Amino acid sequence: MRETQLSAHDFVLPLFVSEKLEKRRAIASMPGVFQFSLKEIVDEAHRAQDSGLQAILLFGIPAEKDEQASGAYAENGIVQKALRAIKTKCPDLVAITDVCLCEYMSHGHCGVTRIDGDHFHVLNDETVDLLVKTALSHAKAGADMVAPSDMMDGRIRAIREALDVNGFQETGIMSHAAKFASAFYGPFRDAAESPPQFGDRRSYQMDCANADEALREVALDVAEGADILMIKPALPYIDILWRVRERFGKPTAVYHVSGEYAMVKAAAEKGIVDERAAVLEIMTSLKRAGANIIVTYWARDLAEWTRQ
Ligand SMILES: [Zn+2]
Repeated sequence: MRETQLSAHDFVLPLFVSEKLEKRRAIASMPGVFQFSLKEIVDEAHRAQDSGLQAILLFGIPAEKDEQASGAYAENGIVQKALRAIKTKCPDLVAITDVCLCEYMSHGHCGVTRIDGDHFHVLNDETVDLLVKTALSHAKAGADMVAPSDMMDGRIRAIREALDVNGFQETGIMSHAAKFASAFYGPFRDAAESPPQFGDRRSYQMDCANADEALREVALDVAEGADILMIKPALPYIDILWRVRERFGKPTAVYHVSGEYAMVKAAAEKGIVDERAAVLEIMTSLKRAGANIIVTYWARDLAEWTRQ
C-alpha cells in the first residue's frame, strides 16, 4: 500500500576524480566522501555498479587551472581520461559528466570573466563556446550524458547542436535547469576545489525567492532540447521540483547537495538524528514530490538500504 518506493535505480552517485592525487583524499566537511585518483576512480565506479546503481555523475579536478579553463576540454583532461577508463571497465554503467568551467578556471567562476574596475562580468557567449567544447570532448571520451551546471543562456541548444552534428545524437543532456544561489554549496567547493576567488555567483544563479522565474528558466531548457531537468539544491526547493514535474512532465532530477548532506551527517554524528532514518525520509519525500532521479552522496548506502 506504500505509494512511494525507493530503489537503487532512483539514485546517481557523484564522484570526484583528481589529477593531482596518487591516493584518495577525504573531504573534511563531507564525511564518507573522497576525491579519488585516476587509478582509484575506476574501482569506485565499479563498486557503484556492483551496489546496484545505474549511473554516476563525474566531476574532475585538474592539476593546472588557467583563465581559459583549458583542462575542461583537453583530450587528455582528467575527466576524459577517467571516462575512457571507466567505460572500458564498466561499459553498462551510465556515465554522466558535470560540464562546467569553475573547477578549471584559475578564478573559480563558471565562465569567462571580464573585470571592469570593481565589477566583474561573466561573458555568456564566450563561456558557451567553451562549454560546447567541453561537452563534446566528454562525449568523445565515452560520456552517456552531459550535465551542464553553469546556468549560462543558450548553452543547451548550443551543446545539443554540437553533439548532433558530431554524431552524438544518443548522448543525453541533463540540464541544471534551475540552479539556485545557495548557502548549501559550501562543502562542495572543498570537494571540487572551485571557490570563486572574487565576487560570487549570484549574477548567474537564481534567487531562492523566485519560483516563477525558475519555471521560465526551465521552459527555456526544455525548448532548447534538455532530456532531463535538474533542480539544485533539493529539499529547500521541493516546491519547484513539484511544479517542474507537473508543468513539463519530463524526467526530473534533483541534486541533494553537499551542505544538505553535511547537515545530516553532522547531526547524526552528534546523536541528534538517526542517519539512515533521516536519509530515507528525505529521499522518499523527494521522490514523492516528483523526482525521477536523485543525485546524492548517499547513493551507494541507499542502494544497500533499499535492498534490505
Ligand atoms: Zn560551475
